Amino acid sequence: DDALRLGLRIIPYAEGQRLLVARDMSKLMQLEQVRRDFVANVSHELRTPLTVVHGYLDLIEPDQSPELEPILVELRSQSRRMTQIVEDLLTLSRLEAQDSLPEERVSMTGVLQTLRREAEALSLGRHAISLDLRTDTDLTGSTKELHSAFSNLVSNAVRYTPAGGSIAIRWELRGAEPVFSVTDTGQGIAPSHLPRITERFYRVSSSRSRDTGGTGLGLSIVKHVLQLHQARLCIESEVGVGSTFSCVFGAERALAAAAEETG
Ligand code: ADP
Repeated sequence: DDALRLGLRIIPYAEGQRLLVARDMSKLMQLEQVRRDFVANVSHELRTPLTVVHGYLDLIEPDQSPELEPILVELRSQSRRMTQIVEDLLTLSRLEAQDSLPEERVSMTGVLQTLRREAEALSLGRHAISLDLRTDTDLTGSTKELHSAFSNLVSNAVRYTPAGGSIAIRWELRGAEPVFSVTDTGQGIAPSHLPRITERFYRVSSSRSRDTGGTGLGLSIVKHVLQLHQARLCIESEVGVGSTFSCVFGAERALAAAAEETG
């Protein structure tokens, strides 16, 4: 544990010599833990009052004063947004507190079909949505967390692609590595934004993201889930053309398709 708290770096010093620099990281790690606990506690405390506000707002009928109707619609939409932010923050806290996740067989055919249905429900016929299953390989990992990560990528594709665009959800092997990807013909992301895009609350355009119901936490969740699966996120994007978000898994996570059950 002590070794973990030391930041060790080896740097070239003089001809044939190296300098070993050790830095005490315990203070930094303590602060990081305080930050994590604080976020988790605040989110947890906000959950109950928000549920109450949300519940009562749903009960109010503006029969007496119809001019209240637009105000109620706005209040309901904002309270839903707050609830979603709190839920996403709690998801992130939960992921940060974990060193590993369950290692189960993730039935990719099932997950992909659910994702397609989710995309269709969000798109409401405004996009052409396709499923491109190029392998019947399954994955080892946590079905729940992987589904939530993939779902975030699919929902972003729908939300950042104008009506008439197309979205392709793909599952394939690149060499021996299983890859899940979502390609859209949406607004794209400029290269200058890419390095920060997975940070909490980082957005290219906050108003657009808010309009489309985003919390600014989706890609952070994706990043954490992939880290827990030792997988990486690759983003290729061109402004005005579209984006591809790929989750690249290690070959050791590929599982031959389960044999068809007989009898
Ligand atoms: P948000 O809730 O704002 O969508 P995310 O963390 O999911 O939060 O995404 C961060 C930002 O990345 C978004 O606000 C948006 O600017 C950009 N982004 C994410 N996915 C896409 C996409 N498929 N096309 C264009 N921009 C995207």
